[in-house]
Amino acid sequence: MADPEFILLGDALWLDFVNTVRGRGKVVDRLPDAAAYHRWAKATRIGSDADATPFQHVRRFRARLIELAEALHGGKAAPSTVVTSLNTLLDRAPGREQLTREGGAWRLRFGASAVPEGLVAIAHSVATTLSDAAVEVHECAADECTLFFAVPKGALDRRWCNLEPCGRETRVERRRGALR
Ligand SMILES: [Zn+2]
Repeated sequence: MADPEFILLGDALWLDFVNTVRGRGKVVDRLPDAAAYHRWAKATRIGSDADATPFQHVRRFRARLIELAEALHGGKAAPSTVVTSLNTLLDRAPGREQLTREGGAWRLRFGASAVPEGLVAIAHSVATTLSDAAVEVHECAADECTLFFAVPKGALDRRWCNLEPCGRETRVERRRGALR
């Protein structure tokens, strides 16, 4: 089977975005230009904003999100520069706030009027992770691997990404009784 162009672990869109420049062993940047970013957007099934967004903005946003993933993995707060970038992008999300009745209670929710594209969709994914106290971001525990992934808080047996062979190392260590 041919190697796919992008690693999509599927935990969170924004971590797939960060992981375009991370991986096992020697890592090549899988988003070297706007054309690759366009293909990545297609592969992740979001609308592409590659034509409308200067590519240096894509690179700068990804650099900020790498900082964010590293901070979260280290148990630190989100850097304020990241939050500013997120709010700027979320301001462009198409839709409006709406009051809805859920389970007998009123909730104020943002109703999207169109599927957000590109960086706005990625920003929405980050915001979803950051606002969910039950989710944690980790860097893969394998020596050779720098991929990030999201897991439910307290899932102590999830220290490796789903990419082979990292996930397989988990099973081997489990057999050896190395996991507690
Ligand atoms: Zn891994």
